[in-house]
Amino acid sequence: MTRGRQRLEPTFANLLLIVLEGAWSIVVGLSVTFINFWRKKVTDRYPHRDPNRNWQPRPGYRGDFALITDKETGKLRCIACQQCQKICPDQCILVVPEGKGKERHPTEFYIDAGLCMYCWLCVEVCPADAITMTPDYETATDNPRKLIRDLDYLRGGVVKASG
Ligand code: SF4
Ligand code: SF4
Repeated sequence: MTRGRQRLEPTFANLLLIVLEGAWSIVVGLSVTFINFWRKKVTDRYPHRDPNRNWQPRPGYRGDFALITDKETGKLRCIACQQCQKICPDQCILVVPEGKGKERHPTEFYIDAGLCMYCWLCVEVCPADAITMTPDYETATDNPRKLIRDLDYLRGGVVKASG
């Protein structure tokens, strides 16, 4: 008969000790359950959310993708440099550029969010602060093709002032 690493003699006293220890561990475990049973809930039954809580992810949450529109010019900040496309380890970005110099801009921009591993590299590498991820987490779908974001999808939503 063993108790932890210590080998105990199979006496009645030792057997009783083991039974009492087992019973005590059950009492301790149930007391934790009992205490938490009466605590205020911190979880939501997704997607049935409590409308009074207005739940939002924590700051920095990496949800859906967006391209940033410049507040002053009303245009996308993206200069179609394709650095995000080159750095993406999952190869889920495709940028089709047009124009030269200050006129360079994307005519097409695709991100396959189904392939993305949300590493944030595309956001960090961008020299124009033109791409980001929003707190929107409602992206589940049963059709993987719906996870491919195009330029029209990406241009909505995030507007930032210059600088
Ligand atoms: S977060 Fe990472 S994997 Fe996803 S698109 Fe950006 S670089 Fe690619
Ligand atoms: S989002 Fe940024 S890194 Fe990607 S093409 Fe546009 S400017 Fe370049």
